[in-house]
Amino acid sequence: AKGNGRNNFQFFTRELNHVATERLHLEAALRHAIDHDGFEVHYQPKTDANRRIIGMEALARWRPPEYGPISPDRFIPIAEDSGLILPLTMTILQRAFVATRRWNEGRDLKRNPLRIAVNLSPRLFLSDDIVSHVHRLLRDADLSPELVELEITETVFMSRSERVLETLIQFKQLGLQLAMDDFGTGYSALSYLRRFPLDIIKIDRSLVTGIEREEEVAMIARAVLSLGQSLHKTVVAEGVENQAQFDFLRSQGCDEFQGYLLSRPLSEAGMSELLQSHGG
Ligand code: C2E
Ligand code: CA
Ligand code: CA
Ligand code: CA
Repeated sequence: AKGNGRNNFQFFTRELNHVATERLHLEAALRHAIDHDGFEVHYQPKTDANRRIIGMEALARWRPPEYGPISPDRFIPIAEDSGLILPLTMTILQRAFVATRRWNEGRDLKRNPLRIAVNLSPRLFLSDDIVSHVHRLLRDADLSPELVELEITETVFMSRSERVLETLIQFKQLGLQLAMDDFGTGYSALSYLRRFPLDIIKIDRSLVTGIEREEEVAMIARAVLSLGQSLHKTVVAEGVENQAQFDFLRSQGCDEFQGYLLSRPLSEAGMSELLQSHGG
């Protein structure tokens, strides 16, 4: 058994080396991509209850030629840990803002504007002057701040909350909308809803999957929707994959819908086409 333990140890060391080396390679590739415009932005449309497109979420895409596509769930944490999240986010936002400005051209901005939702990593709230960065990008793109929603996850609210509150208030003063992303995955989210100036609650996919089959999931989703309504928040459901889920959420008063039922995330050109086929 002793010899076996030793083998295990060697195995783990080798595995760790492998993981660490791969990570270093990915980090170098990420750095290179940031300097060479190596990212894409895809857009997933959001609709209202009548299936009218009201906006889209910008999602980062990375396909380094030497690796093939790498999911944002994998490269965002690397960017966060290696100080690359700010430049990465700036390129995503810059492109998303310019595209959104273009998609809104000729639309009646009072009646049916298209809003862009972007994801802000919790890291960005700690050190960088994120508000002025976003402000500058908005001005450069000539995009109205009212058309922008910032999606923020619960972990932001767990640390240094005075600073976070201050930052969020500055964003509100600029006119942006604030959304709590992945709602329902944490545990003390309810108090955050009172403490921070959030406009939108985005129900996590884990509370949508199975909603049409499992009574418990349905009950939780119903509770979240009624909570959102009593607090006068806009409630968005993500990960809506079938008609039964859409119908249920709609019957419970959900405001906005996002998911494969309506569309997968699309390239910028794909999004432009979709908007055109929906009559601008
Ligand atoms: P998220 O913000 O919760 O984004 C939604 C994710 O669910 C996206 O995955 C989207 O493609 C996927 N999705 C949408 N509809 C459905 C559906 O009906 N069924 C299923 N199974 N999945 C659906 P994606 O693009 O792989 O992004 C994963 C996560 O990576 C995002 O989760 C977000 O946390 C993060 N992320 C993506 N882009 C950025 C970014 O630019 N900045 C930051 N900080 N994070 C990002
Ligand atoms: Ca999101
Ligand atoms: Ca989400
Ligand atoms: Ca999610």
